[in-house]
Amino acid sequence: MADAHKLLIIGSGPAGWTAAIYAARAQLSPVVYSGVPKQDPGPVLPGGQLMLTTEVENYPGFPHGVTGPQMMADFQAQAERFGTKVIGEDILRCDFSKRPFTFTTSNDGKNETGQIRAHAVIIATGAVANWIGLPNEMRLARSGGGVSACAVCDGALPAFRSQPLAVVGGGDTAMEEASYLTKFASTVYIIHRRDSLRASKIMQERFLSRPNAKVLWNKVVVDVLGENSIEGVMLEDTVTRERSRLDVRGLFIAIGHTPATRFLKDSGVELDASGYVALKRRDSYTNIPGVFAAGDVADANYRQAVTAAGMGCTAALDAERWLAANDVH
Ligand code: NAP
Repeated sequence: MADAHKLLIIGSGPAGWTAAIYAARAQLSPVVYSGVPKQDPGPVLPGGQLMLTTEVENYPGFPHGVTGPQMMADFQAQAERFGTKVIGEDILRCDFSKRPFTFTTSNDGKNETGQIRAHAVIIATGAVANWIGLPNEMRLARSGGGVSACAVCDGALPAFRSQPLAVVGGGDTAMEEASYLTKFASTVYIIHRRDSLRASKIMQERFLSRPNAKVLWNKVVVDVLGENSIEGVMLEDTVTRERSRLDVRGLFIAIGHTPATRFLKDSGVELDASGYVALKRRDSYTNIPGVFAAGDVADANYRQAVTAAGMGCTAALDAERWLAANDVH
């Protein structure tokens, strides 16, 4: 097997690329495994959740906004400018039992195609928004047709101003996103599959106290209507099975996220109860020395491009210091 890399970075969202920029400038010759595109059931792309975001308007430094895919292309170009090597493959498995660590790679996302070794690793594989999984939902999410999994990212776009909008879900994220949307929308509907919310009382109150807030109980979305942009949703009552149409110009899916940590199963890296990487302190250290984590894979709470980028920087600095302390030069 070839010599071990100093630093492997798994993942190619804002956390991974920022870690790569810092590590490359610190002459750690980082290798980024940027991942293989797949459907899971929604799209999972190299570049992460931003690849499904049209306009990013809340990342500092872009006064006129930037598209998510353009931003990720620019992050990658900046990382490559300083010598980052990028491999468009997945890491299927990690063996942290001895150093340097060994990683099993795959060029199709399923089958083992090789092995590499590295002295340190930054896990930056993100978390994937859960989707209902309807064909028209995915089509309009991909085309920027008014279906999104992030109201804080997309909700302030002009197309949603003074329009009826809907949020699917009954948890804290749904309440937070719906409350945010009440600032712009004519009406915000929560579509929830049961007759009581999972969200904390305070988050429920925050939403329900808005004059343009409405909850549709015992309802699921069975189709998303509209050719180029959303015109409405078809609902089904979970008790009576009755169907009804609701006219909305935006649909925000807030039914949870799944952290991309399946490949860490049996690796010994400590995960929390929801499957996110558990960090040791307010830095990027996991329970295994030499294994660091950054971005949404270790953050169920903020999930913003700018917070992920900040965590990527932290992880690169932690890894650099750890490598120096362990005589890897
Ligand atoms: P969550 O608590 O797991 O809630 C997901 C919601 O989506 C639930 O209401 C669930 O319905 C619904 N759901 C799941 N699958 C569905 C499907 N296929 N179709 C329709 N509905 C579906 O997820 P979350 O709201 O993203 O919150 C995740 C964690 O972050 C929580 O611990 C939360 O407290 C925390 N958080 C905190 C804040 C804050 O404090 N500021 C903000 C956001 C998130 P059921 O209720 O029927 O299961």
